[in-house]
Amino acid sequence: NYFRNDARSILSATKENDEAGRSRKRHKRILVTGGAGFLGSHLCELLLGAGHQVVCLDNFSTGLRRNIARLKRFDTFRVIAHDIVEPLDLEADEIYNLACPASPPHYQADPIQTTKTCVIGSLNLLELAARRGARILQASTSEVYGDPQVHPQVEAYWGNVNSFGPRSCYDEGKRCAETLFFDFHKARGVEIKIVRIFNTYGPRMRPDDGRVVSNFIVQALKGEDITVYGDGSQTRSFCFVDDLIDGLVRLMVSPASLTGPVNLGNPGEFTIAELAEQVIQLTGSRSRIVRQPLPVDDPRQRRPDISLAGRELGWRPTVDLSAGLAQTIRYFDGLLSLPRRNVLE
Ligand code: NAD
Ligand code: UDP
Repeated sequence: NYFRNDARSILSATKENDEAGRSRKRHKRILVTGGAGFLGSHLCELLLGAGHQVVCLDNFSTGLRRNIARLKRFDTFRVIAHDIVEPLDLEADEIYNLACPASPPHYQADPIQTTKTCVIGSLNLLELAARRGARILQASTSEVYGDPQVHPQVEAYWGNVNSFGPRSCYDEGKRCAETLFFDFHKARGVEIKIVRIFNTYGPRMRPDDGRVVSNFIVQALKGEDITVYGDGSQTRSFCFVDDLIDGLVRLMVSPASLTGPVNLGNPGEFTIAELAEQVIQLTGSRSRIVRQPLPVDDPRQRRPDISLAGRELGWRPTVDLSAGLAQTIRYFDGLLSLPRRNVLE
């Protein structure tokens, strides 16, 4: 049974993991929460390719089964349908906690669930890590810097975040998760890794994700208006997914003393208007650029200082924006040619 969805199946997956764990010590048992999402599915694929046993746990709120369909060929892959807001138990050597909607329209659609996912979900996973002696990595975010007054953003900057705006469920939820991670580390000796991810894009984003790169590409390919919010002078730094996933794994296997937080992102900084122009040019689209209102609390600028990741992980991004956009455009081109009902499977 490929998709499992109750507590009993979680326990049976645990048993299978226990048995396999004993016979194949070289291969780690790795839990990826949010494994059916954009980043999570790429991470599962990389870890399976490296010979590990991977449990992908997801509530499929924004994740898609199509993202992980091709991973079925690995007999070391298990999928569990579960919400991390509910407690869970399974054997794991490492846990990557990626479960959380990441796109503003998605995390704002049910803000209470978003805070619960960030806070109660992290608590449940930290309890699991403490119980099972697993190392645990938290996918934190550049949103912890809010609308930053320090530029570029260094890890030592405490941020500028509204505690009760439309973005707060995500920003404050992720900040509280960092607090929980550090307190479990200090009080209970859990090995933690915190990564602050800056805007990342690439194949397997949903066409209705709502974030800027997928919106612009889908609009351009369909010949629809390209929606620039505000005057388009706000900036973001866009990292291609393969670079980001490489950084996540490097951080996970780094010495225990490196807890983070560590910024991962591509320091190339672009205005949103420049991004729209690049997408039009690369797709050869005839779409027009139209202005729409700037969302409340939309950060003005964003660029990571990645010297810590360079120094401690030997990591730097290798895919520039035009090459990454070209790959992403090819992905969406293929996806949009499928029958409509298959696109969001
Ligand atoms: P995504 O929405 O594609 O993936 C999130 C996954 O988590 C989905 O598969 C979703 O179904 C699952 N999920 C959500 N709530 C859950 C819950 N309560 N229990 C179980 N599963 C749940 O987003 P993504 O871009 O892949 O982001 C993955 C992680 O990385 C998130 O934690 C996000 O906050 C973080 N992050 C991403 C970016 C980025 O630019 N992509 C930037 C900063 C941080
Ligand atoms: N944005 C835009 N048009 C869109 C979607 C987003 O102009 O169709 C803008 C948005 O206002 C923000 C930037 O692009 O300034 C990045 O938005 P996204 O939602 O991708 O990420 P975040 O704001 O969380 O960094």
